[in-house]
Amino acid sequence: MSSSSSTPYSPSAYYLERGELIKQGAEAKVYSLPSLFPPPKIYYPSSPSSSSSTSTPNRDGVIIKHRFPKKYRHPTLDTSLTSSRLIFEARSLARAAKYGVVVPRVLWVDDRGGCIGLERVEGWSVREVLGGGAEGEMELQEEEEEEVELYMPSSQTGEGERDVQGEGEVEEGNEGWERLKGLGVGRDHLMRSIGSALAKLHLTTIIHGDLTTSNMMIRLTPDSKTQPYEIVLIDFGLSSTAQFPENYAVDLYVLERAFASTHPRSEKLYAGVLEAYARGLGEKKWKPIEIKLKEVRKRGRKRDMTG
Ligand code: AMP
Repeated sequence: MSSSSSTPYSPSAYYLERGELIKQGAEAKVYSLPSLFPPPKIYYPSSPSSSSSTSTPNRDGVIIKHRFPKKYRHPTLDTSLTSSRLIFEARSLARAAKYGVVVPRVLWVDDRGGCIGLERVEGWSVREVLGGGAEGEMELQEEEEEEVELYMPSSQTGEGERDVQGEGEVEEGNEGWERLKGLGVGRDHLMRSIGSALAKLHLTTIIHGDLTTSNMMIRLTPDSKTQPYEIVLIDFGLSSTAQFPENYAVDLYVLERAFASTHPRSEKLYAGVLEAYARGLGEKKWKPIEIKLKEVRKRGRKRDMTG
């Protein structure tokens, strides 16, 4: 693989040359590498405490996100914007991890080269597991979708309990779903785990900024005694910190729309997410966000109608 030829020399170039391009976005390219070798000398913020994962993370697999130079911006402005966005992304990830949100470990940041190196999360996106396909794939039609309810409603958190195996149609070829089903995990449980993960995130005052089911990964946690998998939130490139219920409500609304556009019967699924979110946040914090969420939805509907 070759890196962008307009990138000024930086050690990042060495890794980019060897990485496999897995996603090309408007702002960044994402590469996958077996490891960071030789280890970078620039900045290596990783420490055992920066990961909140309950599993043993794969220390070898690495994701490199390269915010390539934008020709349409003045070079000085471009360098400074790229650098501040990268640093902010790394800080958000570190802050989230510090407060127990499961996110990829930040292995390395080269802000001048526009690169951030992250632990590669082995697993499946929530989108894939729910049958939304990989990003860009055709969506499932409503009638193709079968209701799958394997998990018996639990007590408070919904975490730390196993599903009771029941009948359920599994979409063929969906490896993640088959694995979860084999572990007795159903959709309700998955929705509750997502809600809990979002509550944890928002309790840190971080707003993700781009919550979609593609930006949530499911990683199995074979060593965990409490839960066979965890939700790993990825892509903090648009994250920010916030104080107002409105900000949290918009984050939730973005995810609600993502559910609606990619998953049949999304209302029921998303209700499960919100229920767990509310529980995780606590009544006092949830109420004002709930009010704002209703307002945001109304505005969204109005916009849809007026264009
Ligand atoms: P992003 O631009 O951060 O949304 O990343 C684009 C895609 O790269 C995601 O949808 C994932 O499929 C993949 N990806 C990004 N970060 C990671 C990670 N830490 N581990 C595994 N896959 C990742």
